[in-house]
Amino acid sequence: MSAPSTIDAGRLGIMLNELRLPSMKAMWADFAARADKEGWPAARFLGTLAEHELAERDRRRIERHLVEARLPPGKTLDSFDFDAVPMISKAQVSAVAAGDAWLKTGANLLLFGPPGGGKSHLAAAIGLALVESGWKVLFTRTTDLVQKLQVARRDLGLEAAINKLDRFDLLILDDFAYVTKDQAETSVLFELIGARYERRSMLITANQPFGEWNKVFPDPTMTLAAVDRLVHHATIFEMNVESYRRRVALERKRGPGRPPTRATIKTSAD
Ligand code: ADP
Ligand code: MG
Repeated sequence: MSAPSTIDAGRLGIMLNELRLPSMKAMWADFAARADKEGWPAARFLGTLAEHELAERDRRRIERHLVEARLPPGKTLDSFDFDAVPMISKAQVSAVAAGDAWLKTGANLLLFGPPGGGKSHLAAAIGLALVESGWKVLFTRTTDLVQKLQVARRDLGLEAAINKLDRFDLLILDDFAYVTKDQAETSVLFELIGARYERRSMLITANQPFGEWNKVFPDPTMTLAAVDRLVHHATIFEMNVESYRRRVALERKRGPGRPPTRATIKTSAD
C-alpha cells in the first residue's frame, strides 16, 4: 500500500476516532500548522501529539476516579488546620498522602478521636490527595457499606460484592464504631477485613478505641481477630483533641478585636 500523497483531514479525523485518540483528533491540525511553519521534525510533531493524548487520558481517568470516590466535598489538606491536632505532623500526613509505601502492601491507617476532632476531614483529604496522584479510593460511611453488604449476602452475593471492592486501592470506612451489632449483622465487616488483609488498604475512622469494639462485632473472638488484622500493618493517629467546631465557636466568642461596646453582650451558652 502506498502512502497517500495528500492528507484527507476528514478521513484522518475518522481514523483517530476509531483509534480512540480524541485529543490527537482535536489538536493535530493546529500542531501540523505550527510544525509546518516552524519546520519541526516529524518525530517531534508525533511525539507532541502523543504526549497531549496521554496527559488528557490521565486527567480524564483521575476525574472518573474522583466521581467514584464519593468524597465529601471541600475537605482538603490545604484547608486542614494542623495546629489544631498537635499530635500529628503535616510531614507525617504528607507521607501518608503520597500513598506508595502503604497502599502497595495493603497496610491500613486508623484515625481515632472524639467527635468533631477532624477525623472525617483528614480521611477525606488524604483520600483526595491519593486520587489526585492516581490511586483508586472509595469513601463510605461504615453503616452504609454494612447495609449494602448485607443486601448482597441476602442475595448470596457477598463474596462478589467484596471482590468488587478490590478495585479500590483504599477503602475509607468512616465512623466504624457507629455500627453496632444489634443494629446490623456486622459479620459482613469481618469478612471484608479478612478479604482485604495484607492485600488492599483500609482507612478507618472511629471515635471509640478498640476496647469498645466489642459492641461492633457479634462476639469477642471476632472482635479480637478483626482488630488483630487491622493493626498488624497499620499507622494509628490518635486525634484526641477538642471538637474543632466548638473551638472555632469559642474562639469567635472571645476573639480579639471585638469592640468593647459588645463585651457585655451575652452569647448563648453551649
Ligand atoms: P470527626 O469526623 O472527627 O467527628 P470532622 O472531620 O467531621 O470531625 O470535623 C468537624 C468539622 O470541623 C468539619 O467541618 C471539619 O471540616 C472541621 N474540622 C475539624 N478539624 C479541623 C481542622 N484541624 N482543620 C480544619 N477544619 C477542621
Ligand atoms: Mg466524622
